[in-house]
Amino acid sequence: MRRRLPSRWRGQVIMQDNFGRTIDYLRISVTEACNFRCIYCAPNGFSAPHESPLSVAEIERIVRAAVALGITKIRLTGGEPLLRRDIVQIVQAIASVAGVQDLALTTNGFLLARLAHDLADAGLKRVNISLDTLRRDRFTDIVGVDAFDAVWAGIHAAQAAELAPIKINVVAMRGINDDEFADFARLTIEHPWHVRFIELMPVGVSDAARDFFNRHFIAASEVIAHLPALSKSDAPQGNGPARTYRLPGAQATLGFITPASEHFCNACNRLRVTARGTLCACLFGERGEDARGALCEGVSEDKLQALLVRAIGSKPEQHPFGDDFKITSVDAMSKMGG
Ligand code: SAM
Repeated sequence: MRRRLPSRWRGQVIMQDNFGRTIDYLRISVTEACNFRCIYCAPNGFSAPHESPLSVAEIERIVRAAVALGITKIRLTGGEPLLRRDIVQIVQAIASVAGVQDLALTTNGFLLARLAHDLADAGLKRVNISLDTLRRDRFTDIVGVDAFDAVWAGIHAAQAAELAPIKINVVAMRGINDDEFADFARLTIEHPWHVRFIELMPVGVSDAARDFFNRHFIAASEVIAHLPALSKSDAPQGNGPARTYRLPGAQATLGFITPASEHFCNACNRLRVTARGTLCACLFGERGEDARGALCEGVSEDKLQALLVRAIGSKPEQHPFGDDFKITSVDAMSKMGG
């Protein structure tokens, strides 16, 4: 395998993978534990979370090594990252690393009302909140917990704490929330919240998982057909792979993330680290370099960076479910961090 070394451009370190993609974004899963049981996340069931996820010190060391290689954007995810009792310390530790330009978090929002201000004070810049329905009863059916009001309060708390731009992530599902796409679009008129429809991704190897995906997958082009006329729009900060539009008079944008119908692997700038400390170069590849093991053995800074370079060098050209939507070996998004 060819191994690239970081280069410099105008003083900024640039790390590219073997396909010439610049890797500047690290997604860190801080726990496998989740307080929701979303129907699409683990179609074969949720397994017990790993008992000792990466510590604050381990996360900080990985971030320092990653930043030295050109990573500038960090996102915390999970499981549910706000379940970590030390989430504010994690944010503080990462925000203290010089070179981190963007620090964001993806959450189900349940604990956000309580934590939004402390997270903002600790250095968190913005949040993405997952919300697949605007109807209370349906919410409970999708996530397994009667928590719509708590999540709604969490979104408002994020706005009050100026964790902006706020993005609402909606997994679009046929027969589950396809009658609400226009309601979600209207949110961008009523609030400064960017709404992004995410295509359902295949998770898990089983007949039940395949059946769930086949029954509920809906392509972004069909979601767009449910909506009033949209015009193309500039993207909000940290937009990543979403295609962005705007309704007339809207305060915020509508985005479409299409991992299945039109994958964006050619623009993928991400490296991931799981809560177990494995460096993964693709959302659909649970195997990778064991950063946790190396840290436990007292790895030097240089060797830790070499491990990150190796992980980046293993990044596949394209995720494995490709054009034929093969169900993948990832059995729960909560383990990989979505
Ligand atoms: N607990 C946090 C949350 O709910 O946002 C972070 C972890 S969650 C695994 C991250 C994102 O992955 C969420 O927006 C969730 O909707 C998305 N996700 C999980 N399973 C998915 C699937 N099968 N297809 C598409 N998106 C999925």
